[in-house]
Amino acid sequence: MKVPQLDLITQYHTIKEEIDSAIEAVLESGIVINGENVKKIENTLAKYSNTKYGIGVANGSDAIYIALEALGISTGDYVISPTFTFFATAGSIVRTNATPIFIDIDSQTYNLNPVKLQEFIDTKCKFNDKIGKLVNRQTGQPIKAIIPVHLYGQMCKMDEIMKISQKYNLKVVEDCAQSIGSEYKGKKAGSYGDLATFSFFPTKNLATYGDGGMIVTSSDEYAEYCKIFRSHGSKPKYYHRFVGINSRLDEIHAAILNIKIKYLDKWLEDRFQAADRYQKLFKKYNLQNKVRLPIKNIRTIINHKEHTFHQYVILVEDRDNLQKYLKENNIGTNIYYPLCLHLQECYKYLEYKKGDFPIAEEASKKVLALPIYPELTEEKQEYVVSKIVEFYFN
Ligand SMILES: *Cc1c(COP(=O)(O)O)cnc(C)c1O
Repeated sequence: MKVPQLDLITQYHTIKEEIDSAIEAVLESGIVINGENVKKIENTLAKYSNTKYGIGVANGSDAIYIALEALGISTGDYVISPTFTFFATAGSIVRTNATPIFIDIDSQTYNLNPVKLQEFIDTKCKFNDKIGKLVNRQTGQPIKAIIPVHLYGQMCKMDEIMKISQKYNLKVVEDCAQSIGSEYKGKKAGSYGDLATFSFFPTKNLATYGDGGMIVTSSDEYAEYCKIFRSHGSKPKYYHRFVGINSRLDEIHAAILNIKIKYLDKWLEDRFQAADRYQKLFKKYNLQNKVRLPIKNIRTIINHKEHTFHQYVILVEDRDNLQKYLKENNIGTNIYYPLCLHLQECYKYLEYKKGDFPIAEEASKKVLALPIYPELTEEKQEYVVSKIVEFYFN
């Protein structure tokens, strides 16, 4: 048996006719950029995330960068990011010429830990009443924003994060690349922050066959800024108010997304069911001592949107050998992420060191993402879990 970590082809075959004709319609229309398909997915996703505006861009990384530009983040500012996330979260901060500040994660959810955030504020910052901003005690420079990343399909504790951000006048950009459709306390991913960003990269829960991204916001002002920024800062065309970038969501990708978004809620539920089957299998084989599951008791989740299982991530000892063993048995896995951002070579100048964020550092050594996608069958999952049993008990 063969179980890839992600299977794009099986899903394509379930909607092939619709996808093929949507692509053909774009080609026959001759309108391949800035057309009706882009407008439609912008409106649909804004509504879906309970916001007013959607602004399509070229990818999820640009979406974060442009959102930060809309907030006026630039040289001399700090922006807070978890250290355990995809590179783009912090990379986008540096693209604005601001400086990232890293915070440790919660050991169960892998998301930014609000307690650690408050600890950082209490020990390293003070509130400057004159400018109405939180500043770094040593440098006096302002901390302007925070990017909570909703990792693996589960949202951060947004009530606590919003409380802290309101108290200290921090703007919030939600990185929803892995959590489209997820909810926290009944509210959608993307609806909490000043702005929020999505990615349509092929591995994401709503994906195109290539690259794409979107910013959502309910602010007229931020939406307008993002729209102008994504087309070289021009309005009207060829008259440039400032220097932006070229970052477009193309019509073909938008057409594909307009088809796929109709199935999104069903696919999210299918992912949840696949996760539920994993949980049962791990319990059946009594693997809880060897494998820490992403959710202690999945039965306690009544609203299935609270975890949309973008990834099904286990925490294990001897992770690299397990991954090798599974690979030998034709089972695909991935490590999101093997090195924390504060230890990346490109951030040496920030002078973080090993041991600064122990929870994230441990996670980076022990997490393993198992195969998960809406079409994953019970038979394949039985095979995956049986091979994990073999690895630990033979
Ligand atoms: C995928 C991802 C991004 C970036 O998206 P791209 O479309 O690949 O640029 C940003 N943040 C997180 C957490 C992601 O998983």
